Amino acid sequence: MVVAIDGPAGAGKSTVGRGVARALGYRYLDSGALYRAVALALIEDGGAPAERARAARVDVGDRVKLDGRDVTELIRGPEVSELASKIASMGEVREALLVRQRELVADGDWVAEGRDIGTVVAPEAELKIFLTASPEARAHRRAQELGADWRTVLHDQAIRDAQDSERAHSPLRPAPDAIELDSTDRPAEDVIAQVVGLVREAQRR
Ligand code: C5P
Repeated sequence: MVVAIDGPAGAGKSTVGRGVARALGYRYLDSGALYRAVALALIEDGGAPAERARAARVDVGDRVKLDGRDVTELIRGPEVSELASKIASMGEVREALLVRQRELVADGDWVAEGRDIGTVVAPEAELKIFLTASPEARAHRRAQELGADWRTVLHDQAIRDAQDSERAHSPLRPAPDAIELDSTDRPAEDVIAQVVGLVREAQRR
């Protein structure tokens, strides 16, 4: 079974995705970590984005590894965030990372989160969630995680939102059969419990 969780940055996808995966004993795929790892490789070594995306060996388990090196913390910086969003608009980069994501979710039970899991990576997913929250709530959450000023985060987030939603290749949008959940003012445990309930319902269908 595949549970797809898509939505904009800061909507709570990682917290909810990890929580749901833990509750159900499913594996968890943070697809953004793939884009981030390739962005880091480009910052460090340069090169053509598509080639680097094809060549990079990215391991997205509990820790994120790039060509065998643990980059879990390094990929969370603002420079990587910005470049990840940029290269994510390139068709050839997406194509390379799509192959990898499809290989991963082909076997076993997964909670996979990103921007295009329900629309492109796993359109056959048994349950699709589109998780949103107000821009202010999202910026506050991210700012707290990063220890940054929330207004700066709000500004950068608006740029990334626009890039993610307006790009030609796999823009951020809900799959037609996605269930839209708004996490503004809702504790994560509450959203996790709701999604676990929806998975149980989907299992009975
Ligand atoms: O989710 P996260 O912020 O870590 O993702 C980093 C960037 O990777 C996003 O800004 C987005 O542009 C891109 N991304 C994507 N498709 C996905 C996951 C992430 O385009 N499935």
